[in-house]
Amino acid sequence: MEEKCMYCKGNLYGKKEGKSYGLYCKTCGKWVYKSEELLKEEEMEVDKEEYKIILIGEGNEKQMEQIAQMAGINIYMAGEYLRTEKEVVLYKGNAKETYKNARNITEKGLLYKIEPEYPYEILRKMTEEEKEKITKKILEKIKIFS
Ligand SMILES: [Zn+2]
Repeated sequence: MEEKCMYCKGNLYGKKEGKSYGLYCKTCGKWVYKSEELLKEEEMEVDKEEYKIILIGEGNEKQMEQIAQMAGINIYMAGEYLRTEKEVVLYKGNAKETYKNARNITEKGLLYKIEPEYPYEILRKMTEEEKEKITKKILEKIKIFS
């Protein structure tokens, strides 16, 4: 896997566009790699994009239940939290960090989205330690609000 753009040596970014997944150079605007399959784990190494994991699911009872349970608040408050905070960013990081964190959140059963669109597959596997970390992070976020 080429580390930099083969046309201009610019940094590469993971990109999803329609049905296509690939590595894209923002400097010259060219796709260096484009496919209709999700990117592989080793392609994260060259991806310079910063991804945001954002909590969603306002009005989703299961989501609110989860958050309420983790934060020790009632469901109404959890719903209020999702309503008032337009964008609850849980994590910001590169493709690799995002992969790990999104996997954890998926396992927790929380609803989220990743911005920009994440071109990698998120696996469902996590350790107890990872579980604890994500719970702590969510609790911190909610404490600021309540
Ligand atoms: Zn380029």
